[in-house]
Amino acid sequence: MKKLIQLFLAVIIFLSQEAFGQQDFNLHSHNDYLRNVPFWEAFGAGAASIEVDVILNNGELMAAHESASIRNEHTLTSLYLEPIQNARELGMIEKFEFHLLIDCKTEAYTTLDQVVKDASEFESFLFSSENPDGLKLIISGNRPKPEDYKNYPEWILFDFQSKVLTSDLPWEKIGMVSLSFRQFSVWNGKGRIVETEKAKLEEFISLVHSFERPVRFWASPDSKSAWKTFFEMGIDFINTDTPGLAQSYLSTIEKNVYQNPLRNEVYTPGFEQDGKEVPVKNIILMIGDGNGLAQISSGLFANNGQLNLTQLKNIGLIKTQAADDFTTDSAAGATAYATGQKANNRALGLNPAGDSLANLPDILDLYGFSSGIITTDQVTGATPSAFYAHHSERDDSDEIASWLPKSKLDLFVGGGREHFLDKVDEMEASGFTLLKNMNEISNSGAARIGYFASEGSLPSFQNGRGDFLSKSAIQSAQFLLDKKTPFFLMIESGMIDSGGHANSTSMIVTEMLDFDRAIGEMILFADQNPGTLLIITADHETGGVSIPQGDVRSGEVELAFHSDDHTGIMVPLFAYGAHSEDFKGVYENTEVFNKIMSIVKRYASFNRE
Ligand SMILES: [Zn+2]
Repeated sequence: MKKLIQLFLAVIIFLSQEAFGQQDFNLHSHNDYLRNVPFWEAFGAGAASIEVDVILNNGELMAAHESASIRNEHTLTSLYLEPIQNARELGMIEKFEFHLLIDCKTEAYTTLDQVVKDASEFESFLFSSENPDGLKLIISGNRPKPEDYKNYPEWILFDFQSKVLTSDLPWEKIGMVSLSFRQFSVWNGKGRIVETEKAKLEEFISLVHSFERPVRFWASPDSKSAWKTFFEMGIDFINTDTPGLAQSYLSTIEKNVYQNPLRNEVYTPGFEQDGKEVPVKNIILMIGDGNGLAQISSGLFANNGQLNLTQLKNIGLIKTQAADDFTTDSAAGATAYATGQKANNRALGLNPAGDSLANLPDILDLYGFSSGIITTDQVTGATPSAFYAHHSERDDSDEIASWLPKSKLDLFVGGGREHFLDKVDEMEASGFTLLKNMNEISNSGAARIGYFASEGSLPSFQNGRGDFLSKSAIQSAQFLLDKKTPFFLMIESGMIDSGGHANSTSMIVTEMLDFDRAIGEMILFADQNPGTLLIITADHETGGVSIPQGDVRSGEVELAFHSDDHTGIMVPLFAYGAHSEDFKGVYENTEVFNKIMSIVKRYASFNRE
């Protein structure tokens, strides 16, 4: 146990370092004095360089670009030096991780003399050899001649602006090198910069770095694509007018980008019965929780552009809205598939009036089908329990568990044994044999079986769930097949949704690819067992995910998230095998049930024989 706790702590520390690690990008808050909240917004966003224009006006340094825009209360002291002193006194700054870039708009020598005079009032926190963590002021705009740089205090440095850099410059007084981006490139920050312009910029960056100084470009594009490109190019100060947005984008980029180190071999389907109007004996419904088109695409591109799923030809789009809400949850979503009725969010197997609805295992029992459910979630999770329970609150796990012994299920596999501890006798009385090992499923020979893979939740794929989903799918399909009756099997991959809620690209990709391995096994099963209809869909999308960038060859994707919750966008449905053509089109989630039932009814007499 102690070891487990140590491991747990190590993981927590590792994760928090990942999440809150030192930001390795530096932002330059361009024309900061024009913000609604000068200094504080940039300081809050962790900007490393904060720019203020100053005009010397009647012996005062006004924070303004030109005389016409002077506001009497906005001075270098009131907008910057005093707030910085406040932040110091409030304990917000122990050492300075930013400098002020002061852009002198009036005559160089007189303006700078006033800067030195005003800033000297705050000498206690200014940089010096005794105070190496103090504030530095880097002077830009109208500057003295380089040979005069040495005449200013230690805390005054200069912004050098030239393409020609030589070793005889007064480098000890040069704080950074800046040039207009437009001297190198006309890029507008959308899409990507052309390689020749990028090369010119990189050559200049290397030249500045050879003098061990940081580089900044002004008049540069200010967009997500630009920030990312500049970060990757090693520009030391990324110029922005929106430091808060740039910070939130660049600080999450590591989490949003994932390069998949593993590759799934894909199985090539035989297509022999695909779409044919032949009798359907077995129906396998696979639900990727939260598995929208972007999630599927992220798995596809992270696997070098190939999936088992995306080889299938009969495709539909599903409208997922709940009875009482535009955006569905998994309870209403799964109830629509299980019963053919729209339900309220949070409700399982109930119509909006609160009446119990017959579900597919109940109804198919009348047609001689056996039924099973598999999930990477707990057995009482919303998706699996819509196939056996009737309750208004999806999180009431103990109440939901009490429905399982009364259900028509012949098999269940998933996590969450803890909700069934006081129901073992009742389960056994209703004919369930509870297995200790997943490998016992296929040849257990029992009438009804259940297998709990964990007490509570199963781990994610990244945290060691292994091939649970594929293996339990193969074992369960074999168990149901051996009953020599038609069967219905629902297989849920539950944690693609968790990746969406957590805005975790790596979790979405790894869970989606785990789901796809199980899909490959079920396509193979369908090929080996004619009369199988395989339906693969989702209950809803999670995370409002899009894919701004990626690399199919290296298996890297960058996801962007508009939400940490479900969204109302349509989700894809793929069908394979007997009668899969019936699932083409755009329709409500409840239609999946209706299509299944019309196929079952058509072959009712066939399956009875
Ligand atoms: Zn969810």
